[in-house]
Amino acid sequence: MQLLEERILRDGRALSEDVLLVDSFLNHQVDTELMREVGEEFARLFKDAGVTRVATIEASGIAPAVMTAQALKTPMVILKKSKSSILQDGVIQTEVFSFTKNASYQLTLKSQFVRPGDRVLLIDDFLANGEAAFGGIRLLEQAGATVAGVGAVIAKAFQPGMGKLRAAGYRVEALAAIGSLSCGKIAFAEG
Ligand code: 5GP
Repeated sequence: MQLLEERILRDGRALSEDVLLVDSFLNHQVDTELMREVGEEFARLFKDAGVTRVATIEASGIAPAVMTAQALKTPMVILKKSKSSILQDGVIQTEVFSFTKNASYQLTLKSQFVRPGDRVLLIDDFLANGEAAFGGIRLLEQAGATVAGVGAVIAKAFQPGMGKLRAAGYRVEALAAIGSLSCGKIAFAEG
């Protein structure tokens, strides 16, 4: 998505060889007009996937996910990073390792919000090693849903998440694919 790539080049910053900072338009301050375009692009890509719900992982996935759900005219469900280890009735959890925080958290879903037979599109801000996406998929499938696809606003193609998800049979679409962050320079992946 050209508009997004231009924005990443203009306002993104390679914090290290493997972390991209985009907090001026995606992770901290949110450019709602850009997010609307992101949502419309995901909706276009997944229009024939029979999506009945969009899900995301709090917090940075919420803005692109809500715009995608609005464009697809479906509800949107937030998978919570719960601090509580006490399981309530109808709540399912799975442990996920966080790339940016270097710590694990419990990803949590009230199963009443995703039903058997749902076809869920999982949207997130970044796809890196795929831990968050696989955690989300575990919960959604445990709830009886089918994962219709995974949409990442930005995928780091030099990290294994995208390849692992595709190898496991999931459809993955990234609106921008980063090929390298070496020497402070942002380069997009070929193709
Ligand atoms: P994964 O689980 O695929 O390794 O990492 C995905 C999660 O880590 C995303 O939800 C995102 O919050 C965070 N993340 C991974 N890489 C980056 C990055 O380069 N920049 C930022 N801002 N967040 C990232």
